[in-house]
Amino acid sequence: MLAERYPYYLANRPRQPNAELAVTDKYSGEVVTHVALADAGAVEEAIAAAVRATGPMRRLAPYARQEVLEHCVRRFRERAEELAFALCVEAGKPLRDARGEVTRLIDTFKAAAEEAVRIEGEVLNLEVSRRAAGYRGFTQRVPVGPCSFITPFNFPLNLVAHKVAPAIAAGCPFVLKPSDRTPVSSMILAEVLAETNLPEGAFSVLPTRLEDVGPFIEDDRLKLLSFTGSEKVGWELKARAGRKKVVLELGGNAACVVDRDQGERLDFIADRVAHGAFFQAGQSCISVQRVLVHGELYDALRERLVARARALRAGNPRDEATTLGPMIDEPAARRLEGWIQRAVERGARVLTGGGRRGALLEATVLEGVPTDEPLSAEEAFGPVVLLQPFRAFDEALRVVNEGRYGLQAGLFTNDLSKAMRAWDELDVGGVVVGDVPSFRVDTMPYGGVKGSGLGREGVKYAIEDMTELRLLVLRQE
Ligand code: NAD
Repeated sequence: MLAERYPYYLANRPRQPNAELAVTDKYSGEVVTHVALADAGAVEEAIAAAVRATGPMRRLAPYARQEVLEHCVRRFRERAEELAFALCVEAGKPLRDARGEVTRLIDTFKAAAEEAVRIEGEVLNLEVSRRAAGYRGFTQRVPVGPCSFITPFNFPLNLVAHKVAPAIAAGCPFVLKPSDRTPVSSMILAEVLAETNLPEGAFSVLPTRLEDVGPFIEDDRLKLLSFTGSEKVGWELKARAGRKKVVLELGGNAACVVDRDQGERLDFIADRVAHGAFFQAGQSCISVQRVLVHGELYDALRERLVARARALRAGNPRDEATTLGPMIDEPAARRLEGWIQRAVERGARVLTGGGRRGALLEATVLEGVPTDEPLSAEEAFGPVVLLQPFRAFDEALRVVNEGRYGLQAGLFTNDLSKAMRAWDELDVGGVVVGDVPSFRVDTMPYGGVKGSGLGREGVKYAIEDMTELRLLVLRQE
C-alpha cells in the first residue's frame, strides 16, 4: 500500500508544505498519492545545510559510514515488498521487475558498505631525481564535499542508490532531486536514511519544479553534479554546471552482434535478446535496440525472436503474470508509434507488434529500418527491436560504431580474436561477450562515451569521483 501523502526530506527531516505533486498509477492513470514539493527557498536551505554538513560528514569514520549503509540494507530488506509495490505503481513496472530492482538496490548499498572501509591511499616513491632525495609521498582520498544528484524515471530506486550509497561511503553530503514522475520510492528511501545517525544536513531529497531546480546545477558550493537522464538535458546541464565535477549517465541505442558461429545457441540468444529488448517495456538505457545477425542465421533468429515477442503478456503491472507493462505515459508511446510509422513509410517491415493501447505499446520487431531513421539512430526507449543482417564482421563493427551513442554493446561469438577486436574497436563504455548489452551488475564500471555521457558509475568508481586525491609530501633530513 502507498501512503496518502509523503513529506520531502530537508536536512534529514521530513517536511510537509502545502505544495504537492500528484503521482499517478502509470497503468490506470489515476492519482494514487501525493508527494511534497520543494520551492526555491527549500532548495537554498538544503544546499546551505549540505555545506554545513561537509565537515561532520568528512569526520564520520569509515566504520560509522558502513554502519549507516548496513542499516539501510536491513531496512530495505524488511520493506522490500512495499518498495517493489511503489515502483510497480509509480513507474508501471511489472511486479517481478520491480522486485528485481529492489534486490539491486540492496546489492548497491551492500557494495557501498563494503567500499566504505576500503577507501585507501598510496605510498609514493618520489626519489625520482637527485633533487628529490629524502622526499616521500603519500595520498589519501578526501570527500569532494556537497554533491547534487538528479535522477530519471526508469529505475527510480536503483539509479538513486547509485549516487546516494557511494556518497555516504565517500563522506559527501548530498541533495537529490528524483524524477517528478516517480518520486515515491525515493521518499521511502529518504525515510530509511532519516532513521540513521547521519550528521544533520547530510541529505535532502526534494521533488522540485524545474523552475526552482537551477541552484542544484549552478551553485558553486556544490562540488559535483551527477545526472542520469536524457542526452539533451544532460549536456545542457553540464554547460551550466560551472566549476563542479560533472558525471553524465545518458541514453543509448544499444546494438548486439550475432556472429556466424552461433547456430547452436539461437534459442538462448533469442531468449536473451527478447529479455534485453522488452524488459521494462524497453525503457532502459542499455535496452537492445539493434540486432545485427550474420546472414546465414538471420531467418532462424528472426523466427525465434518474433515468437518470444508474441509470447509476452502485456497488461497491468500489478498482475503477477504480466511481463510487459506500459511505457511511462501515452505521449512517450505515441512518439515511438510515430517513429515506427515513419520507418514503415520508408520501407521497414513490422514482423510483430506495432499496436498501441494508451501507454501500452506492443512488443515490436522490425526489419529493413533505414539507419538514418529515428527508430534506429535515436534512442527508442520502448519495447522495439530492429533486425539487420550482415555479411562480414568488419561491417557489423562499423554499424555498431555508427551514430552518436556509445554505452554498451553485446557480441555473441565463440571466436576469441573477434571478441578482443570488438573490445578494442567498439567505441562504447563496455562490451559484453556472450550476452546482450543490457547486462549490468552494480559493482562494474558503467557509463558511456560520445552522446551517452561522461564518467562511470558502479559503486567503487562513483566513490572515486566523489573523492579527491590529497597528497602529503614528507622531507626527511
Ligand atoms: P530526463 O532527462 O527527461 O529527466 C531526468 C531527470 O532530469 C528528471 O529528474 C527530470 O525532472 C530532470 N530534468 C529534466 N529537465 C531538467 C532541467 N532542465 N533541469 C534540471 N533537471 C531537469 O530523462 P527521463 O525521461 O526521466 O529518463 C530517461 C532517460 O534517462 C533516457 O534517455 C535514458 O537512456 C536515460 N538513462 C540513462 C541511464 C544511464 O545510466 N546511462 C540510466 C537510466 C536512464
